[in-house]
Amino acid sequence: MNPNSRTIITDKDQILKIIKKRRNKRRFRVFHTKGIKCVQCGVEINKILFWTDPYGNQSVDFIHEFPDKSFVFMTVDHIYPLSLGGVRSIENEQPMCSKCNNLKGNQPQLLVEKDLTN
Ligand SMILES: [Zn+2]
Repeated sequence: MNPNSRTIITDKDQILKIIKKRRNKRRFRVFHTKGIKCVQCGVEINKILFWTDPYGNQSVDFIHEFPDKSFVFMTVDHIYPLSLGGVRSIENEQPMCSKCNNLKGNQPQLLVEKDLTN
């Protein structure tokens, strides 16, 4: 793999700048508007990875890396799930890590908050 095809950004100021600069793109717009923290557990983006696949397609991953080097992806969650008729608009989108998003599944937001509160 060509090492030049990967760019890793871990500086918070730079992460925020990149997100702001590209806010016309969907995921960047959500993180720019709603913040870079998971609305559920509070982990925040501390790593952006730009990479190019073998076919030359450019991709970007938003990541929270923990001190032990494990990580979660930061995803865009639909507050009211698309599968239940939710819409793809910024009002219905929020930042959520992949772990919380998996837990949430297809339930609307309020049910999850209840489930996670002991
Ligand atoms: Zn989370």
